[in-house]
Amino acid sequence: MQRESGKYYVTIGLEIHAELKTQTKMFCSCSNDPNETKPNVNICPVCMAHPGALPVINKKAVEQVIKVGLALGSKIADFTEFDRKNYFYPDIPKGYQISQYKYPIVSGGSLAGMELTRIHLEEDTANNKHIGDSSLIDFNRAGVPLMELVTEAHTFEDVDLAAKTASNFAKEYQLILSYLGASEANMEKGEMRVEANVSVSPDKDKKWTEYVEVKNLNSFRSVEKAIKYEVARMTALWEEGKENEIIKETRGFDESKQKTFSQRSKENAEDYRYFPDPDLPKLKLHEAFNLEKMKAELPELPAQKRARYKNDFGIKDEDIESYINDFTLGVWFENIAQILGDKEKIKLASNYVTSDYLGLKKSNPEVKLPSTENFAELINLVSENKISSRTAKDILAKIVLGDESPLKIATENNLLQTHDEGTLKEIVQKIINENPEVVASYKSGKENAIMSLVGKVIKESKGSANPQIVIKLLKEMLK
Ligand code: ZN
Ligand code: MN
Repeated sequence: MQRESGKYYVTIGLEIHAELKTQTKMFCSCSNDPNETKPNVNICPVCMAHPGALPVINKKAVEQVIKVGLALGSKIADFTEFDRKNYFYPDIPKGYQISQYKYPIVSGGSLAGMELTRIHLEEDTANNKHIGDSSLIDFNRAGVPLMELVTEAHTFEDVDLAAKTASNFAKEYQLILSYLGASEANMEKGEMRVEANVSVSPDKDKKWTEYVEVKNLNSFRSVEKAIKYEVARMTALWEEGKENEIIKETRGFDESKQKTFSQRSKENAEDYRYFPDPDLPKLKLHEAFNLEKMKAELPELPAQKRARYKNDFGIKDEDIESYINDFTLGVWFENIAQILGDKEKIKLASNYVTSDYLGLKKSNPEVKLPSTENFAELINLVSENKISSRTAKDILAKIVLGDESPLKIATENNLLQTHDEGTLKEIVQKIINENPEVVASYKSGKENAIMSLVGKVIKESKGSANPQIVIKLLKEMLK
């Protein structure tokens, strides 16, 4: 039956895996080193699934997941256990993955406009590498602690909003993981892997009848692109009356073609024959951890930091994001703010950081943050009109390559603005004498002509003359 074209509802759910930053793997004492390039060196009988080898729970990994749950306002389970998720694949040497099924460590909570279902802890798989006709396996990653977050399905009336909400969620989650030190969460390195469940329906309440899961999303941009692509694909099928061709399946995202493609039909939970792992103890988290203390000791999170920056510094939202996304830059800026003290100066400093410093850094990788003392000195000089803003930019370009005192640079190069009217008057007189035509045109009523004289005086003074004072002197002397 041909359907009338009209409104469609987009339902999105996210699943995000993140590798935890721990010394050792999830169930053995092998090193958890994502930067190890030599294959199969961080392995042992436990993570290689030798018969008789027994797993031991990494307490630090459990603690990290609890911290993430506390940061997201979720419920921390009292009782939790690990289950075996059975399936055969070469990257999973035991024939099952140790994961959590009925009793995840974390449930509920919300972030960036989406509700959370759960966060559970499991082990990562090995790495498959296809070289020529052979498939090689590196087990260094097998058994690395992996945290899986699952969100509730959220229905949107607008595809752009759905895509944006999903990528914002992933961004904010990545920030939180890095603030907590729980994961490096680098998407390109695969330390954080986002999967999006997408369904489209003309009926608002009939969601999740059939949905696809899109994998291989290596960037926030890919998350948005893949969702938009899938929604367009499914909407077209609905419009052609071919909605029964929308099947429950796993699809990959081809970065180069910007398209999704079918990978396999999706397993149901029953297919994995989950059951509690008999080799591992059950956990009573409220007994094993001091949750109150852990909550009190959480570091400042991105949302709190945003609020504090807005309140204390009164700077622009986009400036705040620069400091939120670059932790080191944020700490450095806070030190500057403390030295300057004054809100107006802090705002001015932030302008120089976000437009000038970040601009310089973009064009030259050698650019480094100057010391807080020198940067604050620069802001003091310019805000007290001792140097012009042009000079301030020039000095900044110097001190980001070699940290020096701006006052020293300004003094040595005669860049301090001359407030001494006697010296300035000589320069102004010289310019008046040299430019009789401009003077005549000003005197005939073309008031704008004065600006060309101001420019010449400032140039003659090598940028040291204060424009306001120059204008005042010119007007007096041309009366
Ligand atoms: Zn091991
Ligand atoms: Mn998983």
